[in-house]
Amino acid sequence: MLRIERIRKNKLFMTFILFTLISSLIFGCTDFDHDPENAIHTEGESLSVHFIDVGQGDCTLFVTPKGKTILIDAGEKSASDMIINYIRGQGIHKIDVIIATHPHADHIGGMEDVIRAFDIGQIYMPRVMHTTQTFENLLLAIQEKGLKVKTAKAGVAFDIDPDIEAVMLAPNSEEYENLNDYSAVLKVTHGKNSFLITGDVEETSEKEMLASGYDLSADVLKVAHHGSSSSTTDEFLDAVNPDHAVILLGKDNDYGHPHRETIEKLRERGIPIYRTDELGNIVLTSDGQVIIFHHPSSQAKAASQIETIYIGNKKSQVFHLQNCSSLPSEHNQLKFYSRQEAVGAGYSPCGRCNP
Ligand SMILES: [Zn+2]
Ligand SMILES: [Zn+2]
Repeated sequence: MLRIERIRKNKLFMTFILFTLISSLIFGCTDFDHDPENAIHTEGESLSVHFIDVGQGDCTLFVTPKGKTILIDAGEKSASDMIINYIRGQGIHKIDVIIATHPHADHIGGMEDVIRAFDIGQIYMPRVMHTTQTFENLLLAIQEKGLKVKTAKAGVAFDIDPDIEAVMLAPNSEEYENLNDYSAVLKVTHGKNSFLITGDVEETSEKEMLASGYDLSADVLKVAHHGSSSSTTDEFLDAVNPDHAVILLGKDNDYGHPHRETIEKLRERGIPIYRTDELGNIVLTSDGQVIIFHHPSSQAKAASQIETIYIGNKKSQVFHLQNCSSLPSEHNQLKFYSRQEAVGAGYSPCGRCNP
């Protein structure tokens, strides 16, 4: 008994020493190092956003108009091969910015393999340790690659492509009780379109973001914490005021995600919901004016392919064809990219244009 206890203590001590060593080696400065040498230039003006279906977990990839890449989270370890294949399938060899929102396994599990598989520009993590093998493995992969972790915190901005703005809105504090509240939150703006990727932030961080004075509004919200009721407070949702909500989660997950309360909050506001457990990978493109949702198995679809767009009236909750003579005024308009989506959001078809 004593011996076991001692061995365990020794192991804990060794783990602590290892963390301290590795973290002192790799946690470096927070400045942005510009690295124009490795820029990938691709044709086209589109920003694409890929919500990769990793089952229960998060993985979001941005590919900017200039072909720069930002990867936010990388699911569980079991998803890493699929993620690597998906990213390679986009013709990507370098990830310019990796953000590990927080050290839970459903966000960082696949990251060590991703880091080994690609050329990596920079990696950002919130300044918090986690005593799990998964976290330790990630730190080792970072160290092996000779990378230095930069601190994810509110105000960090990425100057990777003049066509987009990317800025972190959280974390705003040094310490939290709940690991989820350490989540890095990224807002990406491309012309008129904006996207808010929230990791697993909960009420505490949401309140801080509300108090921070940042412009939280976004067209597309990656709903925090897989649609858990401990996130997405009414105040936060009203400040973001999204036109579309995306939830990343696995089918029949152990947590009952998404929680009914969150779904109801979104429905009450007439916000259409896109779920990876129902749709698989969800891919959006932005030309700076319009956001196009590409439906499942649509990864193969050309980014320029325009789908039928339906116009919803936020006030009357009626939806129309784009050429209907009784369209609502612009500020009351909400775009839907399929009939099913409009009906799913509780909208009824217009009697005049019969969409
Ligand atoms: Zn988490
Ligand atoms: Zn999570």
